[in-house]
Amino acid sequence: MSVHFNSKLASIPGYTPGVPKGHSAEDVAGSTLAQLASNESPYAPLPEVVEAIAAAAGSMNRYPDPEATLLRKRLGERHGVDPSRITPANGSCEILLAAADALLEPGAEIVYAWPAFSMYPILAAMSGAREIRVPLAPGEVHDLEAMLAEITAATQLVLVCNPNNPTGTYIPFADIADFVERVPDHVTVILDEAYIDFQTVDDPEASIGLLDRHENLVILRTFSKSHSLAGLRVGYAIGSPAFRAAVDAVRQPFSVNALAQAAAVEALNHGEAVRAQILTAIQERDRVEEGFRSHGLSTADTGANFSWISLGENGAEIEDHVIADLAEAGIIVRAGRLLGGPGWLRISYGTIEENNRMLEALGDSVRRHS
Ligand SMILES: *Cc1c(COP(=O)(O)O)cnc(C)c1O
Repeated sequence: MSVHFNSKLASIPGYTPGVPKGHSAEDVAGSTLAQLASNESPYAPLPEVVEAIAAAAGSMNRYPDPEATLLRKRLGERHGVDPSRITPANGSCEILLAAADALLEPGAEIVYAWPAFSMYPILAAMSGAREIRVPLAPGEVHDLEAMLAEITAATQLVLVCNPNNPTGTYIPFADIADFVERVPDHVTVILDEAYIDFQTVDDPEASIGLLDRHENLVILRTFSKSHSLAGLRVGYAIGSPAFRAAVDAVRQPFSVNALAQAAAVEALNHGEAVRAQILTAIQERDRVEEGFRSHGLSTADTGANFSWISLGENGAEIEDHVIADLAEAGIIVRAGRLLGGPGWLRISYGTIEENNRMLEALGDSVRRHS
């Protein structure tokens, strides 16, 4: 007799990590491998944040504050919302999974754009809900009208990723506001803003203002990308107190560890220094995008810390060769094929040196294969 896992397991798509097969995390740490596959910050956390983590380490015999009281208070101040609306989590991915648990079930429907974040398909598979994937419109942007048209009485959850991962494309706030206004009240809208700090069109706080008028809106933010803390796993939702209660009901207590709480609080004390790192990444984006163009490559219009690069007409055929050439040169990027976009690459911005190396190797490879 062998063990039988439940039937839903077979339908859950695995998450493919950015570290290449055959490399352990230890191999990669401190190596010259350019890790441009997971949209992490290439910059170390601020020294004050590292100190706060070290200081908190001495009390690891205690469980963390299950309510993350101080972090919720600071986040409330930062966003001008009541702390009762804020749900810190073990990365914003935890909120996505909890939302599936709390909102979805067989017979329910979930609507999202595709390609979008590779976690979204897991939510439907986990819960047995029916998923409706709405193809992106020309320009690789969310087709909000088409998404609205898919909403039915059975729809429980709509996901909007803005800026979108993997395409980087940004929908202006005015369009988001109009969309949220038109979604019926029985549908929870999750606005996944993991990359909001990297867009330069609107005030990153603009969407927060929608929460007062829409009980069904949930905004996701994370410390993983713009705050250089991906390794600690801390993100949060801002939504209704009822949404917070639902998330807390379906997940374990103590899910945000004490080091993560301490680090996130300290990072919030250094908004200007964090902002400076974000601006550096934005400047690097302009330079890297120019580099892609100089190799004759076109990209989607990005408002994030990564680019979505078209490999052209025979892109789907050369994609694997290009990925292999880059890996050979010590550069790890993400294959579009794995993200719902065959013939495309998703490349995160690294340091100036890493980006230069990537541009040179990519240019060489594309010339060789086209
Ligand atoms: C990286 C990312 C997240 C954040 O994940 P964490 O769990 O907070 O690290 C959420 N949404 C999208 C679209 C992402 O790309």
